[in-house]
Amino acid sequence: KTILVTGANSFIGTWIVQDLLEKGYNVRGTVRSQAKEAQVLDGVSKDYHSRISFVHINDITTDSFDEAVKGVHGIIHVASPFHFNVTDPEKDLILPAINGTLGVLKAAHAYNQNNDNTIKRVVITSSFASIFDPSKGLRPGYSYTEKDWSPVTYEQGAAAKNEPMMAYRASKVCAERAAWDFIDKEKPSFTIATICEPLVFGPRAGGFRSLDDINTSNASVRGLVTSGKDAPMLETRVPFEVDVRDVAHTHTAALERSTDTSERYLIAAGTWSFQEIADLVHESTVIPDNIKNTTPVGIKGQSLPDHYEIDSSKAKKDLGITFIPLKKTMEDLIVQLADLQTML
Ligand code: NDP
Repeated sequence: KTILVTGANSFIGTWIVQDLLEKGYNVRGTVRSQAKEAQVLDGVSKDYHSRISFVHINDITTDSFDEAVKGVHGIIHVASPFHFNVTDPEKDLILPAINGTLGVLKAAHAYNQNNDNTIKRVVITSSFASIFDPSKGLRPGYSYTEKDWSPVTYEQGAAAKNEPMMAYRASKVCAERAAWDFIDKEKPSFTIATICEPLVFGPRAGGFRSLDDINTSNASVRGLVTSGKDAPMLETRVPFEVDVRDVAHTHTAALERSTDTSERYLIAAGTWSFQEIADLVHESTVIPDNIKNTTPVGIKGQSLPDHYEIDSSKAKKDLGITFIPLKKTMEDLIVQLADLQTML
């Protein structure tokens, strides 16, 4: 069976590709160029290369997925902009997120109608951003579940020219809402699963070849560990994380789950803070000195203020997900960052 993965070269997408190939699927990946194909191939075992093919989709905002969905049995839609180099929030973040999601769903629905409903399930990478209510702050005592929806609107995102985080949050909640509206209105023969995760950290499949390979969430860890021993500690805004490899497993498990219903899943491994990462770096026996020497010490052991919880019990129960602890996630990531620092 062949599974389509959009944004196959992304930090999360490449691990999903690897996971699918390990499970015996063929993978068709969408990427923007041949150089991005290499990014995927570098991240997966050579033994599997013959089972990967590519389709180029240069801009998910406007380009059709009709060719990409032909002959596939399932889809994992990962592609969506996650960066803060924003001049026009609508054009740079919100429209690609919404149109990309709708483009995939429309193409899959049209294909199924003419081809015996071969596409069974579409898994969509959403985000904790589509669940979390930023106006409520740290909200001690509250536990977020799949029933929560972010109140952030398209209009708020579009107006957030100087607040790219808000624009990104709008892009994710609007894209996920568009997906559920599509399911309600069009009633396609496939089901969907949306995966909502907070900050995703971890190693890059295949390692980092340049600074451009570092995605937005891992870039904050690099920022910390290269800021200098006496630098002030960074503020932790969203105190939950999950390892990229667990995010990949969640997507493939949601794809494989035999069910007639569409589902939303919220996952988090646990809490983190920049101080906790700094402590972990200084105590680690595997992180090299070039990184220890540029990581701030801060106030060792200082804990976060009281905050909300994230309830991942549904994903654990339905999908059998277990979570990699922060120490392993960070050591695997920071050892790769240390290698990159020596290359620069
Ligand atoms: P990356 O920046 O590595 O991946 C983004 C992917 O989307 C890339 O493949 C990129 O292609 C593609 N893309 C973006 N805009 C367009 C466009 N207009 N046309 C075509 N392709 C486009 O980030 P991540 O792996 O971190 O993110 C992947 C997904 O996970 C996103 O949906 C993101 O919202 C979600 N997510 C990420 C979290 C995190 O902490 N990392 C947390 C929660 C959700 P190219 O490389 O060519 O630009």
